[in-house]
Amino acid sequence: MYKIGVDLGGTKTEAILLDENLDVINRKRIPTPQNDYNQILDSISILVSEISENISDFSLGICTPGAISKKTGLIKNSNTQCLIGKSLKEDLENKIGKKISMENDANCFTMAEATMGVAIDYDLVFGVILGTGVGGGIIINKKLHPGRTNIAGEWGHHTLHRNGNQCYCGKTGCVETYISGPALENSWAILSGKSKSLPEIITNIDNDVGKQWKDEFLENFGYSLANVIDILDPDVIVLGGGLSNIDFLYSEGKESVYNKVFSDLVDTPIMKNQLGDSAGVFGACML
Ligand SMILES: [Zn+2]
Repeated sequence: MYKIGVDLGGTKTEAILLDENLDVINRKRIPTPQNDYNQILDSISILVSEISENISDFSLGICTPGAISKKTGLIKNSNTQCLIGKSLKEDLENKIGKKISMENDANCFTMAEATMGVAIDYDLVFGVILGTGVGGGIIINKKLHPGRTNIAGEWGHHTLHRNGNQCYCGKTGCVETYISGPALENSWAILSGKSKSLPEIITNIDNDVGKQWKDEFLENFGYSLANVIDILDPDVIVLGGGLSNIDFLYSEGKESVYNKVFSDLVDTPIMKNQLGDSAGVFGACML
């Protein structure tokens, strides 16, 4: 049986076709139509029919920017605004005439790394997206663990500091308000009085401000993931998103996590992803 995965991103939409050996047979990328829901439906439908060529027996998975509400079936919390409140899965199934599996980008990322990437040899995988937002997913024995209400793994909105930063979700002190890319750039601006991008900050932290910024980052990163280990005790943690390129997260960051776990034994591997930007589209295939 062939597999088609579609990664619906904010700026581009990518599709791949895999054969039964999980080899890539076809691959195509197009710009995502902006601010027009019907055009997005059309473009995905056309993309699927183009990439499937003459094959009719295939599974179809879609990776979306944003979560699907278990209660309503509608898209919520998406950066692609025109998707919010839409029944994307149902509308696409009607349009394409096929059952679709659909999950958010963090779940697809984790699925891809657990089945085809760096975590292939591990049973319980916690995948982490550290980028513009902070998300996560849980894969147990190669299967997604969505949880009773579809929010399993969403550690970005754990409360890290009860009276801390205001979060868009309505709470204060969420993990995302401390260790997402924008949050870290904001904390740099507050400490130094200057605005810089995260890559610029990282290349210049051998100074007092840099040390303070990094210490706070490591402290918050450590508590955030130590909480996850205390509850889930995964076999491996895989980092994805733009911040996964920060090398010290795998050395000092890991140490900071280990120091905060409630156990005399902690050796959870914290690994960098293997599939990079392709994790979404591969994960969608494997749903
Ligand atoms: Zn929040």
